[in-house]
Amino acid sequence: MIDTNDFHDDLGENHIATSAKNPVRDDAFDISDERKIELIKKDVENILHTLGMDLSDDSIKGTPNRVAKMFVKEIFGGLNPSKKPGSSTFVNNYKYGEMLVEKNITLYSTCEHHLLPIIGRAHVAYISNGTVVGLSKMNRIVDYFAKRPQVQERLTMQIVQELQKVLNTEDVACIIDAKHLCVNSRGIRDIESSTVTAEFGGKFKNEETKREFLDYIKFDTKF
Ligand SMILES: [Zn+2]
Repeated sequence: MIDTNDFHDDLGENHIATSAKNPVRDDAFDISDERKIELIKKDVENILHTLGMDLSDDSIKGTPNRVAKMFVKEIFGGLNPSKKPGSSTFVNNYKYGEMLVEKNITLYSTCEHHLLPIIGRAHVAYISNGTVVGLSKMNRIVDYFAKRPQVQERLTMQIVQELQKVLNTEDVACIIDAKHLCVNSRGIRDIESSTVTAEFGGKFKNEETKREFLDYIKFDTKF
């Protein structure tokens, strides 16, 4: 008989995701953000109390509420589809037909297996088929999908799929290079290692196009 606790422990410790979609329930948004904050506040209180912390101490009195607000409004705010960045696009009037790369996009996410931070950089590229997006749109899309309990592979794919939809082209790519604090600060405690994931759509599957993208992100931009 498989011990399900051990099985799920193993799965998470090895950062295996079971689905390309975030495992979110259908009733996820039946209750308001305010109600979620109230409920999570009690849960955090309970965790701290169980750990033996004295919640009447002024320093940690406000922690449960602070953590609950941070979960709902900030670090997991991207679970809510209503927070998705608007998809306004523009016609590529100047007929720029080359690759556009937005590199070194700061990425803050959270590992869904340990609820510890993932910190890194995302590099996103597309080749316009007549439609373009504002540059900051790419940063906003990265941020939206990052603000969930995540798995880096899934996050990389979600960014590409969303931009493919918005830009109406397959020719989108994303590379993420990130540190997982669950690996760097605990477990194996390897502070130097980082995880690289990549998703190449359409023309980016061609060796030459892929190479061009990789060369651009190596540019050491200084101002
Ligand atoms: Zn983890």
